[in-house]
Amino acid sequence: MRRAVAAIVLLAAATAAPAAVLAQPEQETDPWGFEDELEADPWGFDDEVEEPETWATLLRDQASDLLLFTAFAALALVSFFRKSVALKYVTLVAAIVYLGFTKSQLVSVVNVYGLLAGNLPVFKYSLAWYLFAGFTLVTTVLWGRLYCGRVCAFGALTQLMDRIVPARLRVEVPAWLERRAALVKFGLLGATLLYFFLTTDIAAYRYVEPFWMFTRRASTGMWAGLAVLLVATVFVRNLYCRFLCPVGAFLGLISKLTVFRIKRWSECNTCKICEKTCEWGAIRGPQIVMTECVRCDDCERLYADTAKCPHWIILRRRSAAAQTAR
Ligand code: SF4
Ligand code: SF4
Ligand code: SF4
Repeated sequence: MRRAVAAIVLLAAATAAPAAVLAQPEQETDPWGFEDELEADPWGFDDEVEEPETWATLLRDQASDLLLFTAFAALALVSFFRKSVALKYVTLVAAIVYLGFTKSQLVSVVNVYGLLAGNLPVFKYSLAWYLFAGFTLVTTVLWGRLYCGRVCAFGALTQLMDRIVPARLRVEVPAWLERRAALVKFGLLGATLLYFFLTTDIAAYRYVEPFWMFTRRASTGMWAGLAVLLVATVFVRNLYCRFLCPVGAFLGLISKLTVFRIKRWSECNTCKICEKTCEWGAIRGPQIVMTECVRCDDCERLYADTAKCPHWIILRRRSAAAQTAR
């Protein structure tokens, strides 16, 4: 508004000034002091001049978020490829501190609504968000639910709880119940999507996912619900992720496309070591259930463990038998 008024005044001045000069030809200098006033910038234009928006300015403004997420993603990938337990826990702590409490950046069911409804943030103003979302989607297609295994701040929190809570408090969910309970999250995903597409109301997300906890803004009832969920997680590890999370269900469905799957030996048909080790109920006999697997590495470390995995033990025995037979 100020600019419009100023522009009108300037335009009037610009048209009035020559008329005044015509009426008073002897006055060569600016009789109304326009120049002085313009030099003094009476409308404060100088203060308000905005830098033109270019990709350079956009990148500069978002550089810190882009660099920090790139560093985090590099850490997550290095920990994944090196199958390092220590680096995995460093990644989980970084996920809670940086993506959780600092940025409150988690994939939410609201993002699933946006993706399916074609309503996404403006690209040029949300570069870090697209980097984060792109990383999640690409890694899910390539390796499965890597996001759940080491990027999601809430999943990281419950995985760290799992390390701290004494094993004697654990309640092991029977396999038959695990299979049925794992379907609940797909039902919740379907119900929230149906509700959104019928009402276009996104508010239901606060009641199906606890990610708001990282913003520390919620009603007393919601904090009470979260407390119940976390206490239940003490007894049933990764309870929310395994049975209730709609985002986990959505990523699980994408994981069916996974390109680089976990390898299995022929001995896995009868060996139960990895199945018993998997804390996510993602191994059923020789099969890895990609919708449930979060690429935590536990079974892959066993796969490569020449001292524990029967595949290597059998190979060694065969080779020793062949040598004695010669
Ligand atoms: S299942 Fe949900 S809460 Fe758990 S890690 Fe995945 S997205 Fe996060
Ligand atoms: S320990 Fe080895 S043989 Fe047994 S299930 Fe795991 S990878 Fe397969
Ligand atoms: S133990 Fe293996 S199958 Fe189970 S979640 Fe971890 S990587 Fe996936």
